[in-house]
Amino acid sequence: MLTIAVSKGRIYDDALPLLAAAGVVPTVDPDKSRKLILPTHREDVQLLVIRATDVPTYVEYGAADLGIAGKDVLVEYGAEGLYEPLDLGIARCRLMTAAKVGVNHERPRLRVATKYVKTAQRYFAKQGVQAEIIKLYGSMELAPLVGLADCIVDLVDTGNTLRANGLEPRELIMDVSSRLVVNKATMKMKHRAVSEFIQLVSQFVSNQANAPR
Ligand code: AMP
Repeated sequence: MLTIAVSKGRIYDDALPLLAAAGVVPTVDPDKSRKLILPTHREDVQLLVIRATDVPTYVEYGAADLGIAGKDVLVEYGAEGLYEPLDLGIARCRLMTAAKVGVNHERPRLRVATKYVKTAQRYFAKQGVQAEIIKLYGSMELAPLVGLADCIVDLVDTGNTLRANGLEPRELIMDVSSRLVVNKATMKMKHRAVSEFIQLVSQFVSNQANAPR
């Protein structure tokens, strides 16, 4: 049995065609069911539907053999315990700093609201900027509007969420896309099944990348 951890929403939606290329088609729609383990048309493959930030944990501890997670999540988690054999090229976006339109902060210590605490700490340290990082779990855009923080670190796709809240993107921290991650023991113990899966998915990914738009 191969167990694949994936999060609901954007990543799941983008991953479906890719999984289908390896014959993995869930028999249950996670939006219509409360099931957390989804069977698939392949008897030897099941999906775990979990929070995006939990994907590396399930895979590192071997509760899932494989996982699909954003580069943002992997960098923040510190995924040395995982193999990352494939950039799936899905759920693309950018991790950026953002602040109120036209507002510059001159105070010596920048206040930054984010759920990416470690990544933000590393980024500002590298820039030589003194930053106080305030951990939030969601709706980061609100923080500068109510004076909780000078700026935020968050994912930006179209920029609509920032614009709708009077914020603007400032500095690019990293380009983000979803990656396939593999448990290290699985790579040895289920080598054949995993390599076959990676082969089928990577074939699909490179065909997609080469397809005319
Ligand atoms: P947008 O308004 O298109 O810039 O999207 C920004 C909002 O969507 C923010 O709340 C982000 O956290 C979230 N978001 C954007 N791209 C992604 C992604 N690839 N994966 C997860 N969340 C995302």
